[in-house]
Amino acid sequence: MPMKPQPMKKPDVTPAPAPVKKGPAPIQPIRGMRDILPAEASYWKKLYREAEQLSEDYGYERIETPVLEETALYVRGVGKQTDIVEKEMYSFDTAGGEHVSLRPEGTAPIMRSYIHHGMLNRPQPVKLWYWSPMFRHDRPQSGRYREFWQFGCESLGDDDPVLDAQMAFLAWKTLKNAGVESVVQINSIGTLESRANYKNALVAYFRTKRHKLSEDDKKRLVKNPLRLLDSKEPEMQELKAEAPQIMDWLDEDSKAHFMQVLEYLDEAGVSYQLDPYLVRGLDYYTMTVFEVTPVSDNADVAKLALGGGGRYDGLAELLGSGRPVPACGFALGIERVVTRMKEAMPDLGAPEKRDVFVAQLGEQGRKKAFAIFEELRGSGIRAAEALSKKAIKAQMEIANKMGAKWAVIIGQKEVLDGTAIVRDMDAGTQEIVDARKVVQEIKKKLGKE
Ligand code: AMP
Repeated sequence: MPMKPQPMKKPDVTPAPAPVKKGPAPIQPIRGMRDILPAEASYWKKLYREAEQLSEDYGYERIETPVLEETALYVRGVGKQTDIVEKEMYSFDTAGGEHVSLRPEGTAPIMRSYIHHGMLNRPQPVKLWYWSPMFRHDRPQSGRYREFWQFGCESLGDDDPVLDAQMAFLAWKTLKNAGVESVVQINSIGTLESRANYKNALVAYFRTKRHKLSEDDKKRLVKNPLRLLDSKEPEMQELKAEAPQIMDWLDEDSKAHFMQVLEYLDEAGVSYQLDPYLVRGLDYYTMTVFEVTPVSDNADVAKLALGGGGRYDGLAELLGSGRPVPACGFALGIERVVTRMKEAMPDLGAPEKRDVFVAQLGEQGRKKAFAIFEELRGSGIRAAEALSKKAIKAQMEIANKMGAKWAVIIGQKEVLDGTAIVRDMDAGTQEIVDARKVVQEIKKKLGKE
């Protein structure tokens, strides 16, 4: 026999708060690594679309290389004396005894792939683009993470200066299309030979100033003298002004190549500045080097490069191509670009508005709504739902928040009658339509027919 429901007894004392659950502490993300949360998604999406569109319009094909590569790839390709290889790689030995590293940059693996797959035998240049995560165990600070994403293009197998210019142009133009104004800082560091001569001159000059150098700069003088030019030490600024300038050491071919690059940039209306101290940190660069910085009144913001690139005619042979492969490329740092996009377009982060909200009441109503939602979505209508909610009031509140102009409501009665209620959310009026014609009706109301 069913029991008669008993009236609930009111508790005569305030219940004690639920005991705090003991358990393991929550797990934190690893230092320098961050979640990319939905609030940022619209910026990432816009930047990805602009990057994809431009790359493909300019004939670049998508490539994705493995996150893990043999450590030797970076030691040979990027250079032993660079910050990346000396201090910043995530390197470890696998159970199989391989020495591997997480990808710190995109160019060396793409050149490895080009050689490995015999792309030397395809029509040149081979043009490739990527959008991939990179890992560098750098000191975390604003705009500097240990996992970050880069969008980049590489043009392999051709030494024409128009390609160097195309790289700087694409970096600058992608930013422009994503709503970020920038300036290309550009320089030439010549061929490997002219650069070696310049290096000797630079070392000879800085040796005479050795007593004025910081400990770090003394190390650079021995290991990687070109890096003295991008030293941030205050005493270095004066010393630099007197130092030999690379332009005076360039061979005639390098000079002519650089002049042509600048002429193409002039022609395309790219905003650029010559920077005689720009050398870039990686060993593989030759001839053109550039960085892209944002236009900003804030000096700290304007200094933080959004991307960089250049020509790297020496890389392929370091990686065992057996013959020269002239190439050039660039990479933009996605997180840094997104920070600038947020400033330039604060409204882009707002949730997208939906045209119609599908509400339901009761189990049968919910099943029908489940199907109608898919029908609307499949016909290209921007619909929203809260199918897990039961109360119609809660559903209508969500519909209002989403800015839906129309609601389709299906309850038990509508299921039985084969109908649906179509509600004008602004006017508060509603009508009953044949459930089979809901999509057609909504399309008509949205002017999509
Ligand atoms: P690079 O590969 O060093 O030439 O860097 C190209 C671009 O990637 C830089 O201009 C930055 O925008 C971005 N980038 C480099 N290192 C980091 C990092 N640790 N965190 C965030 N972005 C970075």
